[in-house]
Amino acid sequence: MSTLISTVAAGFDVEKIRQDFPVLKQTIHGNPLVYLDSAATAQKPTAVVDAIRKFHEVDCANIHRGVHELSQRSTAAYEETRAKTKKFLNAKSVTELIFVRGTTEAINLVSSSWGRTNVKEGDEIVISAMEHHSNIVPWQMLCEEKGAKLRVIPMNDRGELILEEYEKLLNPRTRMVAVAHVSNALGTINPIRRMIEMAHRAGALVLIDGAQAAPHLKVDVQALDADFYTLSGHKICGPTGIGILYGKAKLLNAMPPYQGGGDMIRTVTFEKTTYNDLPYKFEAGTPNIAGGIGMGAALDYLNRIGLDQIAAYEHELLVYGTAQLEQIPGLRIIGTAREKAAVLSFVIEGIHPHDIGTVLDRQGIAVRTGHHCAQPVMDWFHIPATTRASLAFYNTSAEIDKLAAGLRKVKEIFS
Ligand code: PMP
Repeated sequence: MSTLISTVAAGFDVEKIRQDFPVLKQTIHGNPLVYLDSAATAQKPTAVVDAIRKFHEVDCANIHRGVHELSQRSTAAYEETRAKTKKFLNAKSVTELIFVRGTTEAINLVSSSWGRTNVKEGDEIVISAMEHHSNIVPWQMLCEEKGAKLRVIPMNDRGELILEEYEKLLNPRTRMVAVAHVSNALGTINPIRRMIEMAHRAGALVLIDGAQAAPHLKVDVQALDADFYTLSGHKICGPTGIGILYGKAKLLNAMPPYQGGGDMIRTVTFEKTTYNDLPYKFEAGTPNIAGGIGMGAALDYLNRIGLDQIAAYEHELLVYGTAQLEQIPGLRIIGTAREKAAVLSFVIEGIHPHDIGTVLDRQGIAVRTGHHCAQPVMDWFHIPATTRASLAFYNTSAEIDKLAAGLRKVKEIFS
């Protein structure tokens, strides 16, 4: 392997780590798979697959309701994930962690439950120019319903938010600032600690979309003083259909339930229902039990490797990848923020991203092409789409070399 792995501690053995991911061992169209689409979903280590399998083969039962052994086992395993997430995010209490389907549902929960009771006509919600659709549309729906105003923090040519403009947007009508920790389309790491402080000074709450941060950075919700923080299990090597909404207990306690049904109640009569305590008040119905248990195994796995190690290794990969791509004539990287994580989004003059993606796929290289659920970002850069190579700690510099070679081939074909 090339020049990489210099500053990363000797303990980080990427070839050993790759053994934990069976999916990486296959060939696609006769070539070894090069998976560069982890921002869409991360691959799953055997430990996660085994945990899900064990639940179905050994412990399968519904949770929170059975006195029998299997139900007690599955309840304990599911709730253990909540405790692991508390540690992962450094939340104060497990009651502040709500299981949801993922970041999309987490944001919808807050915009519906908190939004309906706290936002009125003339109020303002601040988002940023680089948000994923799931951190735009729910707020837009809320604003339409309430007659509130959606305001957008602009960014510069590098894809960095302009904090002076953000400061100007904050005012006594600002109820909520909802912003991504890391942009999925650009890779920008936003200065959220400072942004949270600024919002709080203006009397607004802050929701941080952590979908792209949790896989790459150590997150401490108490140090950040985030009011809400979201993550998606499938982006941190866990299964799909499970994620977490973190919320400060005093805010969650004051919010009405999001959905009604089993598990979220204390008593039900036809006249009146009383609700369960946190976190169950927000967890109606049978949840994704296998997913929750799988996510717990994913957290254990990431902790074993260490988020600091992951961040350091991925940073080296990103620096190496940026240097390789910059050597390709006609290629322009979209998103060149000084603080950046794991994403290489780019366009090549005269070649449509879908053509790039298709030619790369024939070589076994999986990238994402399109607007990455961030159409306003594409509009801002006046492009219809990008090709996005997104990195994870199981990628290698040799795979970056294959990407660069693949792109040279693309250029040959289309020139
Ligand atoms: N926000 C960001 C920044 C994302 O990258 C994604 C997923 N691409 C989401 C939100 C939505 O996450 P999910 O689809 O897991 O709900």
